[in-house]
Amino acid sequence: MQIKKILVAIFLNFSVVAAHAGVAMTVSFAKTDSAATVSEATKANTIESITSVVDFFNQFFSLEQTIELLVGGEDGPLYNGDGQIQLPYSFVEEIEYRFTQAQYQETGVSVSQAVADSLKHTLIHEFAHAVIHLEQIPVVGREEDAADSLASVLLIDFFAGGQEIVISAADLFDLESSDSEVVTEEDYWDEHSLDSQRFYAAMCHVYGSDPQGYADIPEQLELSAERAELCIEEYSALSRSWQQLLQPVLKAE
Ligand SMILES: [Zn+2]
Repeated sequence: MQIKKILVAIFLNFSVVAAHAGVAMTVSFAKTDSAATVSEATKANTIESITSVVDFFNQFFSLEQTIELLVGGEDGPLYNGDGQIQLPYSFVEEIEYRFTQAQYQETGVSVSQAVADSLKHTLIHEFAHAVIHLEQIPVVGREEDAADSLASVLLIDFFAGGQEIVISAADLFDLESSDSEVVTEEDYWDEHSLDSQRFYAAMCHVYGSDPQGYADIPEQLELSAERAELCIEEYSALSRSWQQLLQPVLKAE
């Protein structure tokens, strides 16, 4: 009886340690009043979409340090430089408002779906900052562009309907770009590319990943034939580069 108890205790202890070692990200949802202004459909989609991305990280990534995701904090979306990603409900409200104002459902994608898609993109973008920082993944060029490209590559290569998810996120950049009609000096020194550039880059990734399936994108966006062709090369270089760079932090299958 005693021995059995000890064995159970050892086993339980071991399983806790084993489980912790495999956790790339933990998530906590804060209960705040501001969440109440988000529609029920959006709230459900938010939890579902964030959970699916966190599950994905835990399935494929093995990190030295577990990343903590706080949904519903005051700030963000951001990576705080110390192992924590914050994604506030105010951001969820803001993007729901933008897609609603734009009557996004007319594209055939519901507002709540577009919000969920954009959150997936945002979470992977912040995950990129965290992994680059915590695991010292090499980056040449702008880290913000690298983070956007990781979001495109992981969504497209690993998620069902990934291109459609990236298109929603790209459309959010497009909506955000109409905030400022005049480009200021600040926009040029900002760490992010211009919202319009983020829109075209993401759409270029979608086209480049499947030029047959998305053959209408170059015409729709009035891209030159040369640029469209480059999107194909760019996407395959990005996908290949990220696979190589992430090798040290991927779980051995
Ligand atoms: Zn960023």
